[in-house]
Amino acid sequence: MTLFSNTSFDNHEQVMFVSDPETGLKAIIAVHSTALGPAVGGCRMWDYKSDEEAIRDVLRLSRGMSYKNAMADLGIGGGKSVIIGDAKTQKTPELMRSFGRYIDSIGGRYITAEDVGISVADMEEVRKTTPYVAGLESGDMATGDPSPYTAHGVFMGIKAAVQHRLGQDNLNGLTVSVQGVGHVGYYLCKELKEAGANLIVADINEQNIKNVVDATGAKVVDTNDIISQEVDVFAPCALGAIINDETIPTLKTNVIAGAANNQLQEVRHGEILRQKGILYAPDYVINAGGIMNVANEVHRRPITPEQGMKNVERIFHTLMEVFEKAQKEDRPTGIVADEIAEARIAAARRAKAA
Ligand code: NAD
Repeated sequence: MTLFSNTSFDNHEQVMFVSDPETGLKAIIAVHSTALGPAVGGCRMWDYKSDEEAIRDVLRLSRGMSYKNAMADLGIGGGKSVIIGDAKTQKTPELMRSFGRYIDSIGGRYITAEDVGISVADMEEVRKTTPYVAGLESGDMATGDPSPYTAHGVFMGIKAAVQHRLGQDNLNGLTVSVQGVGHVGYYLCKELKEAGANLIVADINEQNIKNVVDATGAKVVDTNDIISQEVDVFAPCALGAIINDETIPTLKTNVIAGAANNQLQEVRHGEILRQKGILYAPDYVINAGGIMNVANEVHRRPITPEQGMKNVERIFHTLMEVFEKAQKEDRPTGIVADEIAEARIAAARRAKAA
């Protein structure tokens, strides 16, 4: 595969290939940009079918973190790491500590955290060999589970989208469908219910459905039918790539605003939504609440949970800026968000070089 000319390579500052035969660790650490601060992004453990697949994934995710962190204005850059292997059978405390030693060797340019296949307990092992780790549950700066912060940010983003698209400054009486009521979806449903919204939910996990129905009285539909419900807002909080050629014709919503990462299967789907008059809240902008809170840990800024919640409300204004610019220029919201993020990163890079 190509590397320097790969779209996702996008001038990565550093990509480190790691191999430790003692522990079986095979990992890639990607630092996309430190222009705005140390690169922060989770570590994913996945049984990639090829090295190329792992490289593509780490570069795409690392670049994505730069954009997300720049848009949220956190004073941190973007990076990501992947450990190649089966998280169920190949992960050991020794392997995690070895991973930590490699993180340590780049002296704080990259700070790691949990992602798919990596738990808080794994990060506690990493902490034994490096201080460059966040997303912990113990320790003086630990900020704990990011999900309620992510959910609150999504809630504020839904309010912004409703105000922009429907001209209504509250959610009272509106109907919101939520695909996936796991960590984020559950907290989001509770906030939506308190704001007076009617809820329609679907999940493949029956216990998660029960929890949300007990807490909110939401109406439950089949997972195959959640995308095509007639609603004011559709909030994807489960899977990526659910906005695609097959699902777009079935949508009956004015707004798409949810927590799931990589909701658009392809960039062009953002333009199709725009043409249909559906307002799309770019996923990495609306779901930044969790990383906003983790950033406090990175900057060693003590913060109460109440202050943390208040902070993520900035997402409302960031999204409004994106919506208004996109409307004025007749362009998809995702493209407009990307350009704002790119401009911030480029300006910081120039300022550093000067
Ligand atoms: P989670 O695993 O706790 O919840 C996901 C839920 O989706 C689960 O209940 C699962 O059963 C359900 N689900 C899976 N397939 C489904 C399907 N086909 N139809 C309906 N439901 C399905 O994950 P989470 O932490 O709540 O995150 C949700 C999404 O938000 C993910 O895409 C994640 O990457 C993204 N996200 C999460 C955070 C965070 O702070 N947790 C931050 C940013 C982005």
